[in-house]
Amino acid sequence: MVDSGDAARAEESGTIALPIDDFPGFLRLMARGLTRRCPWCGDRKAYFTGWFARVDRCRRCRHPYRRGDEAFELGATTANIILTFLSILIAILVAVILTLPDIPTVPVVVIVGAIAVAGPAVWYPISFTLWQAVDLFMRRPDAEEMAGRRDGTL
Ligand SMILES: [Zn+2]
Repeated sequence: MVDSGDAARAEESGTIALPIDDFPGFLRLMARGLTRRCPWCGDRKAYFTGWFARVDRCRRCRHPYRRGDEAFELGATTANIILTFLSILIAILVAVILTLPDIPTVPVVVIVGAIAVAGPAVWYPISFTLWQAVDLFMRRPDAEEMAGRRDGTL
């Protein structure tokens, strides 16, 4: 865990990541990602200063979302597409189940269209934190990265 004294020192140092002693398991990683928290430390600020305003490092633990890869945003975009498509699928299923046997096609299409347009914006920050969680699970950080001694940025 990260204590507040460490967080203050990391804030002062700017780019030095805090050591993470207690690496979360799969469920905690996913829960943090889906709730827009930093997968590393669980802080709500994570990588966002606003819904769309992103910074390169967690504002608490200073771990960068980029971990030596060049295409993190591609994974986040894929997560965004999956979340949006799941939203559309759930909306269609709920509409069909609630209105069987006379499904109101036009309202369902309008609602699904609205979800398709708004979904990527709604899911934007969560797609980043969720993809970070997936990335951390698939590519476990080594001791150097856990200790904050290796900068993952390019
Ligand atoms: Zn963090």
